[in-house]
Amino acid sequence: MPFQPGRHFLQLPGPTNVPDRVLHAIANPTIDHRSADFACLTRTCLEGLKTVFKTSGHVAIFPGSATGAWEAALVNTLSPGDTVLAFDNGNFGVQWTKVAKSFGLSVDLIGGDWRRGADADALHARLQADRGHEIRAILVIHNETSTGVTSNVAAVRNAIDAAHHPALLMVDTVSSLGSLDYRHDDWGVDVAVTGSQKGLMLPPGLCFNAISAKAIEASRHATLPRNYWRWDEVLEWNLKGFFPYTPSTNLLYGLRESLKMLIDEEGLANVFRRHQRHAEATRRAVRAWGLEIFAINPAEFSSSVTAILMPDGFDEAELRAIVLRHFNMSLGTGLGKLAGTVFRIGHLGSFNDLMLAGTLCGVEMGLELARVPHRKGGVAEALAWLTEQAREST
Ligand code: PLP
Repeated sequence: MPFQPGRHFLQLPGPTNVPDRVLHAIANPTIDHRSADFACLTRTCLEGLKTVFKTSGHVAIFPGSATGAWEAALVNTLSPGDTVLAFDNGNFGVQWTKVAKSFGLSVDLIGGDWRRGADADALHARLQADRGHEIRAILVIHNETSTGVTSNVAAVRNAIDAAHHPALLMVDTVSSLGSLDYRHDDWGVDVAVTGSQKGLMLPPGLCFNAISAKAIEASRHATLPRNYWRWDEVLEWNLKGFFPYTPSTNLLYGLRESLKMLIDEEGLANVFRRHQRHAEATRRAVRAWGLEIFAINPAEFSSSVTAILMPDGFDEAELRAIVLRHFNMSLGTGLGKLAGTVFRIGHLGSFNDLMLAGTLCGVEMGLELARVPHRKGGVAEALAWLTEQAREST
């Protein structure tokens, strides 16, 4: 890649742009992870995380990627041969079931076409038919990063309650937490999974579980093998401000800073509104270009990522390569069965109107250079809407 002046535009749906303040916080000297100062750092992070997860329950912090937190959710609560029920509506939902299978869990899938979210009615029917309560956990991706579709977790909870089913509800919030409104306690979620590199505005390297009392109780009887991911040890140490092993001290500095920005400075409600505004502006641009948004149901449009279908005969990889080469911007690739046919614009994390404007300019110019059939005017449409929004907010 030849030298590219200026800032790289990291418009993947994660990892996201890390604010300079967070990078500077991470650059602080590493301290003794058994010291009082370190305990204070951990406790501050845990309090902030509870606010973002909207829970008064436990949160466990692990050094690792979110795939590890998927594993932690399963191995702490389930036993060999248990059945989990999941939805086939995106790449990450499918990947989570692969982790489950590798631990000898039996996976029951509710089919889907990837353009819609979790089907709460189908879930209700499946749970009602499960009279012996063989299904021990339900796995849902709140925001499917591969498709730009957000599932209605409250509706999933209602379906479980209406079927009077005792299964644990596990929700992946990797590309929703800190970007979309997620309500762990209100929605009766038992285990939430997330990572540091998206709405939390950190580099990759930390992952988290938010854990209900019911999930803690399940973990006392579950027999899947676990060591690194065991909640009992992590929670016991975390409560005192420490870890059972050497923690990611510098990422925790970054986390303390990013939580301060999200909670105390911008405020979560404003963070969610900002993400909605940028998602809507992006969709307006896509429609004006005459391209197709991959998500079908407007109620399920994601506020953190928009997946866009390429016209027949055009490869997203070529478009993204052109955008990277000419405009120093990374866009999200098509994942799993969407490889080649869908590209994704990440509009989450540390992001503002002008960053979105630059992003959409890069896409519009890229479409032209890649000779992808489209209409002009997507950027203009998005800018008009952002201007209107700015006017209304004054
Ligand atoms: N779940 C979702 C929804 C994701 O978007 C991702 C990664 O992008 C993962 C899980 C896996 O996270 P990680 O790559 O941090 O292991």
